[in-house]
Amino acid sequence: MNIEHSFAGLGLADPLLRAIADAGYRTPTPIQSQAIPLVLAGGDLLAAAQTGTGKTAGFTLPILHRLAAAGARKAGRPRCLILTPTRELAAQVKESVDTYGRFLPVASMVMFGGVGLQPQVNALRKPVDILVATPGRLLDHAGQRNVDLSGVEILVLDEADRMLDMGFIRDIRKILALLPRKRQNLLFSATFSDEIRQLADGLLHEPGYVEVARRNTTTELVEQQVHLVAQKHKRHLLSHLIKTRQWFQVLVFTRTKHGANRLAEQLGKDGIGAAAIHGNKSQGARTRALADFKSAKLQVLVATDIAARGLDIDQLPQVVNFELPNVPEDYVHRIGRTGRAGAKGAAVSLVDREEMKHLAAIERLTRQKIARVEAEDFVAPVGVPAESAREVRPPRPAREGQARRTPQRPHKPRKAEAGAPRHAERPRGDGRARGSAEPRSAEAAGKQTPPRRAKGRQRAALFAPRPQGSR
Ligand code: AMP
Repeated sequence: MNIEHSFAGLGLADPLLRAIADAGYRTPTPIQSQAIPLVLAGGDLLAAAQTGTGKTAGFTLPILHRLAAAGARKAGRPRCLILTPTRELAAQVKESVDTYGRFLPVASMVMFGGVGLQPQVNALRKPVDILVATPGRLLDHAGQRNVDLSGVEILVLDEADRMLDMGFIRDIRKILALLPRKRQNLLFSATFSDEIRQLADGLLHEPGYVEVARRNTTTELVEQQVHLVAQKHKRHLLSHLIKTRQWFQVLVFTRTKHGANRLAEQLGKDGIGAAAIHGNKSQGARTRALADFKSAKLQVLVATDIAARGLDIDQLPQVVNFELPNVPEDYVHRIGRTGRAGAKGAAVSLVDREEMKHLAAIERLTRQKIARVEAEDFVAPVGVPAESAREVRPPRPAREGQARRTPQRPHKPRKAEAGAPRHAERPRGDGRARGSAEPRSAEAAGKQTPPRRAKGRQRAALFAPRPQGSR
């Protein structure tokens, strides 16, 4: 192997190389080959890297190397502080530190909110080199003088953009004030808003800059598809896809915590093992759900954007957007959960007509058209309860010669459909979105707009799958 493209060639210590080999990594990812030499050299770093690029090893490996090379640890006085936005990410980073540092005499601990303070206080009575923490809980401990931050030599802000999104900027500033002035600073962020630039300007001293995936690009390893479907049929289509396509380890994104709970429950009723993971769940419930998902006890994990942020699941094959995110960048983050570190993945989005504007924004941002497909073998159940008051309004009388769609009325398959293969997902030709005969979903839109009437059957079929008994 070319030494330039190996971990050994990056100058990492032997115990780290052994741990890397045990983890099954053969070559460094691009962020690792660029970031590791810079961090080993002791300089500040600004890294534009999304989750899935191998960024965690990109900073933990050289940090472990540096800490093991020199210095003595003390109880409650960490030498390296890694701040993360979420508990899951903190736990994940700590796991990486343990994995890569297993042959080194480096002690680490993790602290986050939502769990008791006392076990963390007890852990702080022991020597610690690396502290991985979420900002709020760290400030609690600092306020109670359980932790002494005056010995921090290296500071990492991981997923700094998300920390700012979550309103942690004041906490971060308070923490910075507790750190010694002379230290090495590493800032990782997937996106670069003015606020991040401002933070970076104040924090970093002549930083090295590393960028791996261009901002807002979606990885080529992820096959992306859109199913145009009415909100009220999404749940049935999802169950259908999971069962017929035999998807395992599916991560499903919903826009709200309530929606995540409800969907997990509904999937359970359809005989699909699912759990919801979001900010209102206790830490124990989140950890359990993630462990069950990873060990394949649970087929589906339903998550909100923020909860999913810290999840590290190796080679996740399937991501589903049950609803598209309002912020197009979140789409990129979401599908970055699959197709990681060289593995192939698929991302399917279920899109109601209300969400077409979000889809357009995503396609503008990622500069690509996402293939529209149809599940030809899907038949929506009859009598799906209406999700808004408007949907139960009696339909207007149909004009002569125009089909009126009601759930009871059988719909004859179009000629083209009749001969189409049942189990194939058919690309939708030009990929352009068209209108829907379904009344808009008030749940998705959060506003009241009168339903539009169908112009014809072809348009209707896009968002309203055929009622049962139609063939
Ligand atoms: P991250 O971007 O840090 O969340 O890492 C994404 C995934 O890539 C994790 O599951 C890592 O275990 C894995 N990974 C990190 N570095 C490598 C590597 N050099 N080769 C293969 N997999 C890696």
